[in-house]
Amino acid sequence: MTADRDTIYDDLGIPSVINATGTKTRIGGTLVREEALEAMNRAAEAFVRISDLQAAASERIAAVTGAESGYVTNGASSALTLAAAACIAGDDLGVMARLPDTDGIPSEIVMPRTHRNGYDHALRAAGADIVDVGGNDYHLGTGSENTQPWQIADAITEETIAVAYMEKPFTQPPLPKVVEIAHEHDVPVIVDAAAELPPTENLSKYVDQGVDLVAFSGGKAIRGPQSSGILAGREDLITSVARQHLDMHAAEPVYEPPEDLVDVATLPGVPLQGIGRSMKVGKEELAGLIAALDAFVEQDDEAVLAEWHGRAERIAADLEGVDGLDAELENAGKTDAVTTVAVTVDETRSPVDAGELVLALRRENPRVFVGADDVHRSQFTINPRCLPDDEVDYVIERIAAQVDTE
Ligand SMILES: *Cc1c(COP(=O)(O)O)cnc(C)c1O
Repeated sequence: MTADRDTIYDDLGIPSVINATGTKTRIGGTLVREEALEAMNRAAEAFVRISDLQAAASERIAAVTGAESGYVTNGASSALTLAAAACIAGDDLGVMARLPDTDGIPSEIVMPRTHRNGYDHALRAAGADIVDVGGNDYHLGTGSENTQPWQIADAITEETIAVAYMEKPFTQPPLPKVVEIAHEHDVPVIVDAAAELPPTENLSKYVDQGVDLVAFSGGKAIRGPQSSGILAGREDLITSVARQHLDMHAAEPVYEPPEDLVDVATLPGVPLQGIGRSMKVGKEELAGLIAALDAFVEQDDEAVLAEWHGRAERIAADLEGVDGLDAELENAGKTDAVTTVAVTVDETRSPVDAGELVLALRRENPRVFVGADDVHRSQFTINPRCLPDDEVDYVIERIAAQVDTE
């Protein structure tokens, strides 16, 4: 069996990737929806004032999230940077101009220690310092709580500008409790929910729970442009984001951004290029994200999850029949998670271990990517969400070929 592929990557002389691992940025994230591609092409045909387009996007994001306001960012990661910048600077143009230098400016973000992750670099990029609280007891089996609500309250001081929360179905303490504590101390809550879609209802869930800013990836389940993201939340904070993100180089007499987004009456002058300027969002990404979001909210989550589940079942059944491999479904039946296939490599029967197998697949042309997070447990993972049905047999055949000793 061969993979006869005709991709632009083949034209460029580099291997394309068959994606059996889900929406990973390092292999291109997602496949952009038709509706979004069409919108991007049309956006490329004419000029528009970016602030007008952001204002239009803002209204739509507000409508689907229930937030006061919204903004299109350069990925969820830059949504977090801009969120931190807004919480540090508020409406202070001087502070905006100084970021990421926060000497003498309150800039601490309190975060449960078990929520720390590689993406929190985005918060620090704005100039914030993360103060992590609590322990790792639940994970270690040394206790039932990682971070207790009182520890968050205890860590909030005059230096605190936000509480950050990494949302997963299992993160503790519960978000509403964290919001309650933060708000008792007049501190906003920033939520990273980049990958928490579907279900579609999560678009509004965190706003309903009272969070001040929430970030979603535009290039994962929404299937918008790969370098797009959404920030939704409080109007005053989104205004601060706009002031720090939009290209502002305008002569004062002609400075007239959309009122809803940047209230000029409250400004002493024209803001300088802010910290967000290096996280530019083009008209194509903006139009594409809007179109993708419109299509995403119309989507039937159950049907999508059922399609992925069916594909995972088929893969698990086929791999279970391969000598040296044991395949098991994970997350089956959950409404907030994709059914995946965990494959264990039995090293007594297989000529290669899990790491060698995964690496060999990635060295092929086309590269075949399966999930490698659990190779230390002799496992690899197949996520069916980005794998078209007509590539399933090829992936199974290439995996089986690695353990075939004949
Ligand atoms: C993917 C992801 C991000 C980054 O999202 P981008 O849209 O790629 O910038 C941030 N946080 C978490 C938890 C993610 O899964």
